[in-house]
Amino acid sequence: MLPEAGSLWLLRLLQDIQLAQFYPSILEKLNVTRPEHFDFVRPEDLDGIGMGRPAQRRLAEAVKKHHSRNKPKIPGGFAPEQKETTPPSDSSPFLPEPERGLKCLIPDGAVSRGELLGSGCFGVVHRGLWTLPSGQSVPVAIKSLRVTPKGPVGTELRDFLREVSVMMNLEHPHLLQLHGLVLGQPLQMVMELAPLGSLHARLTAPAPSPPLPIVLLCLFLRQLAGAMAYLGARGLVHRDLATRNLLLASPCTIKVADFGLVRQLGGAPGRYVMGGPRPIPYAWCAPESLRQGAFSSASDVWMFGVTLWEMFSGGKEPWAWVPPYLILQRLEKDQARLPRPPLCSKALYTLALHCWALHPADRPSFSCLEGLIQEAWPPEGHCVRDVTEPRSLRMEPGDPITIIEGSASSRSPSSTTWKGQNGRTLKVGSFPASAVTLADLRGSPATCPVHRGSPAWGEQSRGSTDGVRPKAKLRELPPAKGQRRNTPLQRIKGISKSLESVLSLGPCPTGGGSSPPELRHARDVPQGPPGLPPRPPFVSSSFQLSQPPGERPSWPKREPLHNHPLEAPRGSKATVPDPKLQKRVMEVELSVHGVTHQECQVALRATGGDVVSAIQNLKVDQLFHLSSRSRADCRRILEHYQWDLSAASRYVLARP
Ligand code: AMP
Repeated sequence: MLPEAGSLWLLRLLQDIQLAQFYPSILEKLNVTRPEHFDFVRPEDLDGIGMGRPAQRRLAEAVKKHHSRNKPKIPGGFAPEQKETTPPSDSSPFLPEPERGLKCLIPDGAVSRGELLGSGCFGVVHRGLWTLPSGQSVPVAIKSLRVTPKGPVGTELRDFLREVSVMMNLEHPHLLQLHGLVLGQPLQMVMELAPLGSLHARLTAPAPSPPLPIVLLCLFLRQLAGAMAYLGARGLVHRDLATRNLLLASPCTIKVADFGLVRQLGGAPGRYVMGGPRPIPYAWCAPESLRQGAFSSASDVWMFGVTLWEMFSGGKEPWAWVPPYLILQRLEKDQARLPRPPLCSKALYTLALHCWALHPADRPSFSCLEGLIQEAWPPEGHCVRDVTEPRSLRMEPGDPITIIEGSASSRSPSSTTWKGQNGRTLKVGSFPASAVTLADLRGSPATCPVHRGSPAWGEQSRGSTDGVRPKAKLRELPPAKGQRRNTPLQRIKGISKSLESVLSLGPCPTGGGSSPPELRHARDVPQGPPGLPPRPPFVSSSFQLSQPPGERPSWPKREPLHNHPLEAPRGSKATVPDPKLQKRVMEVELSVHGVTHQECQVALRATGGDVVSAIQNLKVDQLFHLSSRSRADCRRILEHYQWDLSAASRYVLARP
């Protein structure tokens, strides 16, 4: 493979340490085209291209030397940030933990947007294609930050960037992966595509879409518990676990998405307390979250239970029959819980009830849940004879059957009926137990539906010391008269509401009586027009939280275009462009990620045509809009990174 001029440095570096044979794979597979890209290469990546650990150490040493040879000398005033960027020890990957994961800033031109996939808190999501430097095209999802005529709303910008910085550091088969960020207008996140959309949309899809097999729902639960255990181990709480935020990457693979509400646990051990009014999906929330705004892995476990309930209810809206301001009272005072959905086995429902233990400490952990799901897995078997009796679930010999309810202790097995799902027709109903042979754990047929430890688990765990005790007297709450029917995704989305409005404006739980408060809908932010205004300044969170939208500071005013030495004479510009000016504009445009032609013209005018200064000013602008730092700070950071916007952006994104 002939090296491209731009990657000769890589070949030389590898030749120096006798690793030139890895040149093609490092370039093509790991996408390393610049020295700083090594900052994001992990040992697993190098394992993946067949590089042994001793060779990896040699490479790490060489890269470190390369970095130190090219390290910029910083005149004073940059001490704290410089300290944080000190390369870590040789034995570990090349950069500190927070900076791993984001492979690159992606040039605007490398992504193309296609069909609209959905819209969320801070913008729209499109299907797209990302063209890698090698020319290979990768299908992706592109989330663009919403812009209003005045630019992106400050809180949305902040949350968008927070989501980026959270996703940068996550890597798990059941968490949606971030590929990179496109700086520009609008800001865009390039993510792994989940081509089959949200699980909620799938659960509520009308006929002819068949219902999902129960065993598949159990598989999703196990995948979800695994992903959540991974998040929890990193001290992160998701706070918005729901089927609408589980995406289907394939028919049998879910990915947890929407990290906009994810927070790092801090303060009291294992607990995050909200700092102000935030949109919260309260029908999914644990009592302590509703009462005190407290979130923890245990409150995520509560949400996991509600998500399980959604899955087995065909995507119904939890607590749709209870006024929002009464949910907390139902949960705490009445100790009510969501009723067992018809598709949900007793074992799985018992598991959900444990997730809904009033006291967070009584709920199982996610890592424990992974095992508990396995134990509660519904028994599966095969039909051994035709079942055509009226009111029975139809089945033919060989049909796979999942048992929802069955009894092992019936005195006359021949008259016992079980309830289950036919895996071929996906229909659910009762049938004579004698029509099905179950496989036991060793794969040989059994004659009665022995739950894999699950009902027994429900009994045994009572009073045990493992922290999984169902304490409360549980009351099933049947849908009240006039209960709303299954609702579309749009309405489900609308019920993420302001926690503060629930707590402070609604009638107090014991009082009741008055009508529900006017609830602010989290995802109802009006969509801005597609026109792209100049970028906004970053607005501080305290301002955003207290000011109505109309009082937000307006966008920085650009210099008027007239009366500038670089401006072409009025009227002549459109028809006779100045070729020298055009060349300089082009030069600026090519050097700064995500800027428009017009912005380059303005920047050049402001510097009297000095290309280098225009480029630097635009980069300062880019970084400024990406972070909460001052322009002076941004300039220093860029100088530190030798005006490499990509490296500087990664630095600020890792420290939002
Ligand atoms: P969000 O802003 O994350 O709430 O996303 C809004 C909607 O866009 C979701 O409900 C999904 O339907 C869709 N969506 C988001 N991310 C992806 C993705 N990576 N792949 C496919 N669809 C997505």
